[in-house]
Amino acid sequence: MKVSFQKALNVLKNSLASNKPYHVQWMLTQRCNYRCRGCSVWSEQRKLGEISTDDIKTGLNILRKLGAVEIVFSGGNPLLRDDIGEILDYASRFFITTVYDNGSMALRKIDALRKADFVAISLDTLDQKKFDSIRGVPGALKTAVEAIETLHNEDIQVGVSPTISQLNLHEILDFTKYFTERGIPVWYCLYGYDYPSENQLFKIGKKVDEFEIRDRKAMVEVCTNLAKLKKKRKGVYITTKTLRALESFFMTGQRTWSCRALESFFMIDSLGNVAGCHRNEPVTTVSELPDVWNSQYFEALRKKYKECSRCAYLCYIFYSLHADVLSNLSIVLDQWKNVGALLTRAREKGR
Ligand code: SF4
Ligand code: SF4
Repeated sequence: MKVSFQKALNVLKNSLASNKPYHVQWMLTQRCNYRCRGCSVWSEQRKLGEISTDDIKTGLNILRKLGAVEIVFSGGNPLLRDDIGEILDYASRFFITTVYDNGSMALRKIDALRKADFVAISLDTLDQKKFDSIRGVPGALKTAVEAIETLHNEDIQVGVSPTISQLNLHEILDFTKYFTERGIPVWYCLYGYDYPSENQLFKIGKKVDEFEIRDRKAMVEVCTNLAKLKKKRKGVYITTKTLRALESFFMTGQRTWSCRALESFFMIDSLGNVAGCHRNEPVTTVSELPDVWNSQYFEALRKKYKECSRCAYLCYIFYSLHADVLSNLSIVLDQWKNVGALLTRAREKGR
């Protein structure tokens, strides 16, 4: 983890600036070694190639000049790339950097992961039968838990990332308590699926009836209880504002946010194509971004996306709700607090 003075300064400066993207999610590869039932990525994995390490570094330089603050590397499984250590090392000099793993690769790539600010291991439940069946891989739970514990003991800032669905809805509160009691933060995704569309950037969510949240009242209770827990305990990585928006959404179906795709966040695919979100068509490439970021074309797209209500993926809701300068700053300060807590723990262990 690199928390240099220069990086802290850049992050704070960019968080305070307007008309800059806060969050970028870069899908480094479509390859995945798992076969999750609610995911389309693995079945599409032969369709896209991948750009080189040098092209990714060039892209990161462009994002840096554009003023992005936070980069999340996802996939597929980004740890399947041989150059993941080099990419994380480079990105972490400038951005708050998070990398995702399904728990299967983290121990093999542990030195690479030391270079990231945060490692998110996706894990939906502590019920072995259920989890292995969601993943489509026997032993997936055991592997993921071992990875989380080892990374935590090695002072790598690791968190668990459950996707909330009908299958684990009633476990989420206890699941959160279990990990946060052990000093491991939890940040959440919400099950969603993509309707077939011709030209979207890439596909993620697959429709599985069992996963779809039918018990809306229980979902509201989960949000209320997480908001209460958050007041008492560190490591519940979802803002109260987001929880309130979800409560309202599941109670009434009404959205209290408008989408800020291509404004506060955007996505990049493994070939360097850029779209406001994965469900929309690519509108430029990372190398051409500086030419179009302030264009009328992008302004028109932003207006269109603001009216859009085609999905309710939690990360998009989160970055839409926290699109202003003050919200950016509060997220950054929260993240630094966690980095600070980790450094203190490392110092204490060293005594
Ligand atoms: S959900 Fe993640 S781990 Fe599972 S198949 Fe999709 S990309 Fe791979
Ligand atoms: S609501 Fe936003 S993130 Fe979702 S499909 Fe529409 S533009 Fe994309």
